[in-house]
Amino acid sequence: MRYSAFRIFKEGLTGNKGWKAVWREPEPKPEYDIVIIGGGGHGLATAYYLAKEFGHRNVAVLEKGWLGSGNIGRNTTIIRSNYLLPGNEPFYEMSMKLWENLEQDTNYNSMVSQRSILNLFHTDGQRDAFVRRANAMFLAGADAELADAAALRRELPFLDFDNARFPIKGGLFQRRGGTARHDAVAWGYARGADSRGVDIIQNCEVTGFDIQNGKCLGVETNRGAIKAKKVAVCVAGSSSRVMATAGMRLPIESHVLQAFVTEGLKPVLPGVITFGAGHFYVSQSDKGGLVFGGDIDGYNTYAQRGNLPVVEDVAEGGMAIMPMIGRARLLRSWGGVMDMSMDGSPFIDKTHIDGLYFNGGWCYGGFKATPASGYCYAHLLAKDEPHPTATQMRLDRFRSGNIIDEKGVGNQPNLH
Ligand SMILES: Cc1cc2nc3c(=O)[nH]c(=O)nc-3n(C[C@H](O)[C@H](O)[C@H](O)COP(=O)(O)OP(=O)(O)OC[C@H]3O[C@@H](n4cnc5c(N)ncnc54)[C@H](O)[C@@H]3O)c2cc1C
Repeated sequence: MRYSAFRIFKEGLTGNKGWKAVWREPEPKPEYDIVIIGGGGHGLATAYYLAKEFGHRNVAVLEKGWLGSGNIGRNTTIIRSNYLLPGNEPFYEMSMKLWENLEQDTNYNSMVSQRSILNLFHTDGQRDAFVRRANAMFLAGADAELADAAALRRELPFLDFDNARFPIKGGLFQRRGGTARHDAVAWGYARGADSRGVDIIQNCEVTGFDIQNGKCLGVETNRGAIKAKKVAVCVAGSSSRVMATAGMRLPIESHVLQAFVTEGLKPVLPGVITFGAGHFYVSQSDKGGLVFGGDIDGYNTYAQRGNLPVVEDVAEGGMAIMPMIGRARLLRSWGGVMDMSMDGSPFIDKTHIDGLYFNGGWCYGGFKATPASGYCYAHLLAKDEPHPTATQMRLDRFRSGNIIDEKGVGNQPNLH
């Protein structure tokens, strides 16, 4: 069924009786060509591009809970491609281009809103670093725009420009950045994959792998064994736990990241704004809530809730750049388990076990990567070679020294 204005009109006139379920609820088959573990954004996008771009339809996505129950439905919805390093920037710009056409491509309203992202800077040194970043963005075909404090005062007069500790000296805009409705992204990909024959199986937890003589032949699940020619792991915060059942130890730690939303307010924020002297990022949802977040809690955990010190730290960041936020009432907060890699960058790679593939280590930047991650992972699964924009996202990069240390802060997950 194609969604269109005409369809809404027709259904409105006929009692809305013609709408179909957005995806089927199939029983797992005993065997597939490709089994994808994890029905988050990345797993579903992989299934979608496998079916649409690479013609693989005998595919299953196994999700232990329900679609959208993981980080895809918990993030602060920011999309952007304002990276610096060659291993990252072209990949995130590819993702940005896929975002720009996502709704037409999937025929699903994912509420992609290119309302801009602004990274504030507070020192001259930080400005120079942002100029360098802007040039790297131009080289990868992205857009970037430097604004001084006077220009920002005209556009965003509510910011605390003369803050005694962190005066705002300007900012780097990416006007094509913005937000997308996170769970609708999962639903759109699920619908697109399902309509091309992919089986999306919810409440199906993978508990182990069938590995014989160095080859992965399938998976064990709480709904029985399923054979597969290729098994693609894509479980974000559960990466270490799932890969441990295949005997692999990853350069990944699991940490909790919190997010917050206020009561609905009249439109006040035109786009996404990030604080440059601490960790705070904020946007306004279409319902009017200010959606914001900050740093990870900083200890290893699989809990989907965090603690008060980070709440305080995030609130301090917000108050430093826009004191008016102190008058908004907080409605909800929640957490998600992040697969923090040691250099802050992800993996899309084969493992040393034949037929077993791994996608993870997205830290807290994986939402914006969803389309490109799905596309590149599908490419790897279909052709057995990395997509040209994801060649550095390898599992052996810590051994070879080719790390992608975007922030240049070293090999500790809590620094990224
Ligand atoms: C609070 C918060 C804010 C964030 N903000 C942003 C942001 O603004 N911008 C951005 O780019 N990124 C952001 N992120 C990061 C982003 O959400 C994640 O990097 C990304 O969603 C991870 O990929 P995913 O969607 O596939 O993960 P998930 O949705 O977590 O998918 C993994 C799935 O695997 C399933 N699974 C796990 N184990 C098994 C198993 N054994 N068998 C079967 N299924 C299994 C899980 O149930 C889950 O559904 C944020 C994350 C959080 C938590």
